[in-house]
Amino acid sequence: MKAIELFKDRTVYSFEVFPPKPDVPIEKIYETLAALETLHPDFISVTYGAGGSVPGASTAEICRTIQEKHHTVAIAHLPGINETRESVLKKLAQFKALGIENILALRGDRNPNAAPKDDFHYASELIAFIREHGDFDIAAACYPEGHPEAPDLDTDIAHLKEKVQAGASHLISQLFYRNKDFYVFREKLAAAGISVPVEAGIMPVTSKKSIERMVSLCGASIPKRLAKLMARYADDPASLKAAGLEYAIEQIMDLRENGADGIHLYTMNNPDVARYITEAIAE
Ligand code: FAD
Repeated sequence: MKAIELFKDRTVYSFEVFPPKPDVPIEKIYETLAALETLHPDFISVTYGAGGSVPGASTAEICRTIQEKHHTVAIAHLPGINETRESVLKKLAQFKALGIENILALRGDRNPNAAPKDDFHYASELIAFIREHGDFDIAAACYPEGHPEAPDLDTDIAHLKEKVQAGASHLISQLFYRNKDFYVFREKLAAAGISVPVEAGIMPVTSKKSIERMVSLCGASIPKRLAKLMARYADDPASLKAAGLEYAIEQIMDLRENGADGIHLYTMNNPDVARYITEAIAE
């Protein structure tokens, strides 16, 4: 099933997982998927080469398992920066053979230790190429606070429009902690003529270390209220986690009340966190 169909009649609720890092046994991700299936997400997306996973380590295989064993729609992430046209064609053929119909097409992060390939400079080029070479539903990333390399939010939104014009049918946002940023962003998208569904990316704060790492990687800002919570529970990880989960639940409730097209939960492969939040927001 194409993921865009899901947005027709509901507020989509989706999860993101990553392939196991080299020091984690492969079985672990299959246990995680089994636990996540019981929470009935509309789809599960699987990263590629992000956050320390080995590039290519079974993103496609994990997507196949999500679809065949867990009967859930899967989206395979595909960054283009280290790919050639030829290698993307091979991946598209593999996706087709495995029954994967949905791709989140990305540029990918620049690696200071490796020169990028020259075929796909921006996600929009990859989206156009995929559109030309297969029958896939294509999603793209968006950034409520602007992509860290963009000179300003309006310029970033102009480039986002290029992704939609190239064929992205829906958008998944970078994590953010101030819903107001998302609402202002949505208004700017409407003003720019971008009308595809936009899912809000939510990453619960579960530890000080993990959040500092994520925020430094993606450039999201920490609002005062969250900073205060992090300071108050600096030496009390259990209370910080509890407060972080409540913060994420409040964010999701507010986003739903304000008509978000979808909620995309960055699960960090932690089904307990996903379960806690899913049960708390159940209607
Ligand atoms: P683009 O849309 O190409 O934008 C990158 C920058 O280039 C922006 O600043 C944009 O404004 C600018 N730009 C775009 N077009 C032009 C143009 N024509 N001229 C000048 N400037 C332009 N990374 C991974 O490696 N693997 C993953 O699995 C992964 N999953 C992700 C999932 C989500 C939901 C999100 C939000 C991000 C994910 N990322 C992943 C990170 C992503 O690869 C990085 O944020 C990357 O830096 C940008 O990717 P993009 O697809 O948004 O790039």
